[in-house]
Amino acid sequence: MSVYLDHNATSPVRPEAADAVMAALAGGGNPSSVHQQGRAARARVEQARQTIARSICARAEDLIFTSGGTEANNLALHAAKTLGATRVIFSAIEHDAVRAAAVASGLPTEVWPVDRSGQARLDWLEARLASATECESILFALMAANNETGVIQPFAEAGAMIAQAGHLYLIDAVQMTGKLAFDFAASQAQFAALSAHKAGGPQGVGVLATACDAQVGALISGGGQEKGRRGGTENVAGISGFAAAITAVSAGESDRIQALRDRIENRLKAHAPGITIWGDQGERLPNTLCLSAPGWPSEIQVIALDLAGFAVSAGSACSSGKVRKSHVLDAMGASEDDASSALRVSLGWTTTDADADAFADAWLREYDRVRPKAAAAV
Ligand code: PLP
Repeated sequence: MSVYLDHNATSPVRPEAADAVMAALAGGGNPSSVHQQGRAARARVEQARQTIARSICARAEDLIFTSGGTEANNLALHAAKTLGATRVIFSAIEHDAVRAAAVASGLPTEVWPVDRSGQARLDWLEARLASATECESILFALMAANNETGVIQPFAEAGAMIAQAGHLYLIDAVQMTGKLAFDFAASQAQFAALSAHKAGGPQGVGVLATACDAQVGALISGGGQEKGRRGGTENVAGISGFAAAITAVSAGESDRIQALRDRIENRLKAHAPGITIWGDQGERLPNTLCLSAPGWPSEIQVIALDLAGFAVSAGSACSSGKVRKSHVLDAMGASEDDASSALRVSLGWTTTDADADAFADAWLREYDRVRPKAAAAV
């Protein structure tokens, strides 16, 4: 088995989450049924709702369970439209789950630029809010943390400005799930999306937190589940696993992971001073290391490291495989060379000291092997 360092794509399921999934599957029952098994399934769903709501300072009744972060973002876009949004403005580094949903909404879209450090520009937001006309009702979309670079966005400051101006606000907090604390109430957002599998829960389950529940029209119509806001029998096992994963995150976990990430980063920088570490000027997710090694193409790095026994990614999971230039690094002003040699290493709850050291050893070994060719290519 290789060492898994791709937690931003998906984090392995925690044993506590797997146990909760198995218990829910064994318990059976449809949460809408009135008999004993149905009531037990309902209790699992509502208990999980309480746990997840508490973890993000939201009210349990404001959470809508979905099939993941992508659906949660799509539901927010749909809801914003029904609330009268006339335009969507999303940051240049949003995940496709927001970018594609914004385009699919049919509303006019605009891109909110980021600076070289990868943070959405608040000066741009201020000017855009000032230039908004009386008849504009804008949905602003900003992720809490970027999936490729880990850069934490100024989502709270932006929230205060957007709320003051009376517009709508969606935070894609998918990459914060289980990694850093996220306070929905303090964010002043109408919507926030979360996803279980980024926190060691099962894939295919997420949540939309909403501050305007009564007015969220369903994107998926059906039997009136989730108070009519999302039709379809609830994914009881997935929802139970989601809550169990959140509960299993230990207090010191992010500090431990950050120390390992920094250890890798410092060794790589010391040995290979020509590399760029994306987003290292500001706050980043504790687990994420995104680097560029000019002259050493991303896909070659990924394959070499895979053969050496390490699972890492060339960029976001959705764009790797297709190998296209990362829109995130592009927005940060990356050169062609930098963008085509980017590697994302994302640690997580399974990562040990030995994994981190072995990865740094392997990367440096491969780097030394390709360095003469890489230097000639730049
Ligand atoms: N938003 C961000 C920032 C993500 O990183 C991802 C997944 O990588 C998503 C949304 C989509 O979440 P899901 O895989 O649960 O649909």
